[in-house]
Amino acid sequence: MPFYDEKSLDVMIDADQIAARVAELGAEITDAYRDRGELVLVGVLKGSFVFLADLARAVDLPVDIDFLGVSSYGDAEESSGVVRLTRDLSRPIEGKHVILVEDIVDTGLTMQYLLDMFATRKPASIEVASLLHKPARSKVDVPIHYLGFTIEDAFVVGYGLDMGGKLRNLPFIGVNRAEGRPW
Ligand code: 5GP
Repeated sequence: MPFYDEKSLDVMIDADQIAARVAELGAEITDAYRDRGELVLVGVLKGSFVFLADLARAVDLPVDIDFLGVSSYGDAEESSGVVRLTRDLSRPIEGKHVILVEDIVDTGLTMQYLLDMFATRKPASIEVASLLHKPARSKVDVPIHYLGFTIEDAFVVGYGLDMGGKLRNLPFIGVNRAEGRPW
């Protein structure tokens, strides 16, 4: 018996599809960063932790791993553009190549904020990897150099993405079967 309600969730992207795409992204990053110097993968907590763990192991190079904590919605469920940093990096990124790793770029406001903030820290370069992109909800255009999947406008869960703090440990990307948003 699975821990979640199978009747209320549809599989949008299954575990095999995710694994295949993550392997491709890892190979692209390996090719792009070979012989370029220190590479840091920065995971945006909490949603990126599963993707980051798989992506890091698909990169065939020595990498540093670090994490940032952000809270983009506060108590409201709509992205306001006001991003709060809840945890900063553990080490400086000056002179290093950085890939920001996100679970999903939705309005783009969180990523825009992070890119602006990181630019002031003088990394050697900064790129973005996101498992998912929801272009229908985009408010600002942010570059996504390594993108897993473009998806329609639906609230998705699993593979790191939560609903009310739960469902992050689903091995696939699922979508609520009920119409509309769950909030
Ligand atoms: P943005 O600032 O791009 O609107 O928001 C990005 C963040 O919103 C993501 O990192 C994620 O935490 C949350 N988010 C956006 N869309 C979804 C979704 O469909 N499902 C879940 N669980 N979180 C989402």
